[in-house]
Amino acid sequence: MSSTPLIEINNLTKDYTSRSGLFGQSQDRVRVLEQFNLTIFEGETLGIVGESGCGKSTLANTLLRLIPASNGEINYDGNNIFTLNDAKLRELRQHFQMVFQNPFSSLNPRMKVFDIVAEPIITHLQMDSQTLKERISQLLRECGLNDELNGRFPHELSGGQAQRVAVARALALNPKFLILDEPTSALDVSVQAQIINLLIDLQKKHGLTYLFISHDLGVVQHISDRIAVMYLGEIVELGSSESVFNNPQHPYTQALLSATPSTDTENKSQRIVLEGNVPSIASPPTGCRFHTRCPLVFDKCRTEQPPQVAFEQGWSTCHLNIK
Ligand code: SF4
Repeated sequence: MSSTPLIEINNLTKDYTSRSGLFGQSQDRVRVLEQFNLTIFEGETLGIVGESGCGKSTLANTLLRLIPASNGEINYDGNNIFTLNDAKLRELRQHFQMVFQNPFSSLNPRMKVFDIVAEPIITHLQMDSQTLKERISQLLRECGLNDELNGRFPHELSGGQAQRVAVARALALNPKFLILDEPTSALDVSVQAQIINLLIDLQKKHGLTYLFISHDLGVVQHISDRIAVMYLGEIVELGSSESVFNNPQHPYTQALLSATPSTDTENKSQRIVLEGNVPSIASPPTGCRFHTRCPLVFDKCRTEQPPQVAFEQGWSTCHLNIK
């Protein structure tokens, strides 16, 4: 991992509006990301962890410009991606690719493997048919597959094979940055490790940068250099993978970790069960957003937003971390 930023997210805010009332006459604003700041460095894997609805997928979709931001900027290669013209945006789409959770819903069921992997190349590049054939073979080989699968449809593949095809397609345009949105959670446990290892190998070979989104800290641990823990649209802790796992600072991270199966029987922490449901992101709690479920809550947490507190390999936002 280098210390050169690849992507800088500054004060990113994303609001959705929904209509309510009998005739949809009133508009409600739901803020999913609030003044979000994050830097992703070249060649790193940044894991993003949090429960469903915390804003992880909104972040991914905004990064890919699949949905517009309400405010803030995302800088890539010195340019704010929200102000790119069509030609530059087309270029960006080659550099940023995404692998989705379920390959059987992300791959076109009516296309054969060859056409699935070839489609982005045909759309964006000029390539004669022989070179295209060789390129598809190379991509499949790199992803642990072979040409025999070329004529198969997605439903004729196993889950692991289908996800490898999705990775091959994502690599087709030599991207720099991959968003991996829960790429193993729809797969059998035995296949999950194979896909993680494949992603690690491909990263080393091509110098890729990953944003790895998951609800599962255990999966993220194996692949991430740094981990950001999200709760209700905000990062509550960001640190090196080692520090988040061995010395979590935020009570929410501690609770997530305590629910992660561990093979370390000696140092296994006691499970912290969070009471209550995750509040609606449409009306987040005042003060610390985690205060309605935090086992360590005290008065100040209900009214005052905790600041970012730096520690050796990262930062967290909890009043208790202030020394
Ligand atoms: Fe818990 Fe208070 Fe820390 Fe929030 S600020 S995590 S409520 S102790």
